[in-house]
Amino acid sequence: ANEDLISASLPQPSISTSSRESRWSDTTPYASKKKLQSWFQLSNGDWELVKIISTSGAESVISLPDGKVLKVKDDSLVPANPDILDGVDDLMQLSYLNEPSVLYNLQYRYNQNMIYTKAGPVLVAVNPFKKVPLYGIDYIEAYKCKANESPHVYAITDSAIREMTRDEVNQSIIISGESGAGKTETAKIAMQYLAALGGGSGIEHEILKTNPILEAFGNGKTLRNDNSSRFGKLIEIHFSETGKISGANIQTFLLEKSRVVQCNEGERSYHIFYQLCAGAPPSLREKLNLQSVEDYKYLRQSNCYSITGVDDAEEFRIVTDALDVVHISKGDQENVFAMLAAVLWLGNISFTVIDNENHIQAVEDEGLFSTAKLIGCDIEDLKLTLSTRKMKVGNDIIVQKLTLSQASDARDALAKSIYACLFDWLVEQINKSLAVGKRRTGRSISILDIYGFESFNRNSFEQFCINYANERLQQHFNRHLFKLEQEEYIQDGIDWAKVEFEDNQDCLNLFEKKPLGLLSLLDEESTFPNGTDLTFANKLKQHLNSNSCFKGEREKAFTVRHYAGEVTYDTTAFLEKNRDLLHVDSIQLLSSSKCHLPQIFASYMLTQSEKPVVGPLHKLGGADSQKLSVATKFKGQLFQLMQRLESTTPHFIRCIKPNNLQSPGSYEQGLVLQQLRCCGVLEVVRISRSGFPTRMSHQKFAKRYGFLLLENDASQDPLSVSVAILHQFNILPEMYQVGYTKLFFRTGQIGVLEDTRNRTL
Ligand code: ADP
Ligand code: MG
Repeated sequence: ANEDLISASLPQPSISTSSRESRWSDTTPYASKKKLQSWFQLSNGDWELVKIISTSGAESVISLPDGKVLKVKDDSLVPANPDILDGVDDLMQLSYLNEPSVLYNLQYRYNQNMIYTKAGPVLVAVNPFKKVPLYGIDYIEAYKCKANESPHVYAITDSAIREMTRDEVNQSIIISGESGAGKTETAKIAMQYLAALGGGSGIEHEILKTNPILEAFGNGKTLRNDNSSRFGKLIEIHFSETGKISGANIQTFLLEKSRVVQCNEGERSYHIFYQLCAGAPPSLREKLNLQSVEDYKYLRQSNCYSITGVDDAEEFRIVTDALDVVHISKGDQENVFAMLAAVLWLGNISFTVIDNENHIQAVEDEGLFSTAKLIGCDIEDLKLTLSTRKMKVGNDIIVQKLTLSQASDARDALAKSIYACLFDWLVEQINKSLAVGKRRTGRSISILDIYGFESFNRNSFEQFCINYANERLQQHFNRHLFKLEQEEYIQDGIDWAKVEFEDNQDCLNLFEKKPLGLLSLLDEESTFPNGTDLTFANKLKQHLNSNSCFKGEREKAFTVRHYAGEVTYDTTAFLEKNRDLLHVDSIQLLSSSKCHLPQIFASYMLTQSEKPVVGPLHKLGGADSQKLSVATKFKGQLFQLMQRLESTTPHFIRCIKPNNLQSPGSYEQGLVLQQLRCCGVLEVVRISRSGFPTRMSHQKFAKRYGFLLLENDASQDPLSVSVAILHQFNILPEMYQVGYTKLFFRTGQIGVLEDTRNRTL
């Protein structure tokens, strides 16, 4: 009922203002703000709603909710909205669009399970961490026939479908937010809505079944999210000319390989390992010599085997069912599981020092035997691969014996590569199955679920790549929201000098410039045989210190000024992770296998190696796998992604995590605010401020404020009434524009009218 009231009384967006710039500087005399509500920031940073009792000069007397009266400086107050605007479903409707008002509005809705709110063109989704009654076929039907129009992923998806059909343009739904904010769930909800359109031959069912598969192989438990995606994903859903789903295609980005061999206390490796150990039927257990999770070193190290409320054995059944649905044969499924078991057994291989020269040999135990059997290779070959390395010196091949730590690294590198290849292979098989609509005539809707901006106490190469990706996405976001905004002005014929928007190009340049950008310098240092993380850090400081987005830190660290805030990176392991080397010996081992998958993986690894080279052995003429660096490959993928997105109409969803405990009902203002700032919701506000964010049709404006006219002439047309109101209230000519159908206002202008109206009513 409250919502009805609001939309009936204030159908058009009104003002926006950032709290950082006090709105008190508008044209209203300060005294007239008496009796108004205001936000006052407490010492803990939270905002409290207060009443202004009196005001003089630059100070006001306020009363707190508990009755306390305080005298405070005006600049510690931020205007609050009238009660009637509590819980509006679009933040654009707030008369005062400032940080506390936005926080309060989202919280007000969140407390009533209204987790979705529009921020102008952007959908904000606050993670409920519980089941909310907003989904399912009844809701889908209601959104389809527009019986329900409150903000929702369904509504966004519906407009994507409509615009795709109406404009004959491909669409994209771009979901962002921190880890655990709800991106993957949101993507699934959007897919659910699309699948309800149907397709025939069960394709929509198949598309939905890719989710449990990719989550099993690409998600794991982290401290932030029990089901954290460790890869980025773009799923493109194709439609036939009749508007039915005809097929789909999935592209993945930068899987976190390190998790396979190493994860932190309290976290887990990829779900599928635990599911396999818990759920494999006896015959399969025997074939793979499968033990329980505690018996595998890779799984044991983090001391965490299960997730509350998750039954891994049951999940295994769901995943194998899903594999059936996407047409992966039982035989291939068994091959997949054999590769998983091989990775686990590989982790159990240990080494002994065989003489006092510090070189080693793999211990002949169950780990070694099982690995060789599962990979389908000779035991002696495996032993040799793990303990030596062939090097090319001049025209000769010499065999170098590995040290203990080199051997462990070689073993882990092999495990990571097998897993990464397995993941890629699976995605490839899924794509074959989803490509059923051979004649791709129609249009598509793409859903992007990619890791959000990350800033931890310690940030490494992974955060470096992720945050770079987010800079690219943010640029896309800015450009589109600006463009749309300005197009509307032009359409309504207002006098509009195009605003050159402030973008994050400087930061992107810091990453991408050649030869003196972060990525180039990283690649360069990665090719130097003597390059270390320290020489890399020093080189950055030497060449980039004058860049305003860069700051050198002590020792091996550096700071980047991202759009979402400063992040300090520790360069430890940067070079190694960027090179991501795999010994040629390991590739040869896989290609010597009797089994199907290892051979395919070896060919994957070889094709990757053909490209330009990075790696310390290149200059030495080494025999190691030489390939594109990880950062360069990722950059290429991002460029391709951006190109694809650029040809679509974007729809943005920003997911917000209201607390760090994954718990329902807790809404931490500071945490939410930080995300609103980071993920650019307030950026949209800032962008809007430079334009005319408030629009109201001549009719609505005249109807709403006409009664305030001192000389009311009922016979006048809406436009004349509107203009008379503007004159009476001394709204300065530069503060508004009269369009063909609407009035356009700069930030803060309607608040004056609205306040007067409220006092008069
Ligand atoms: P992200 O992909 O952003 O890291 P997820 O989508 O995995 O985050 O969400 C984390 C968890 O939050 C989910 O496992 C689920 O428990 C909860 N969650 C997210 N969105 C919703 C929702 N719309 N309804 C109920 N629970 C949700
Ligand atoms: Mg996710």
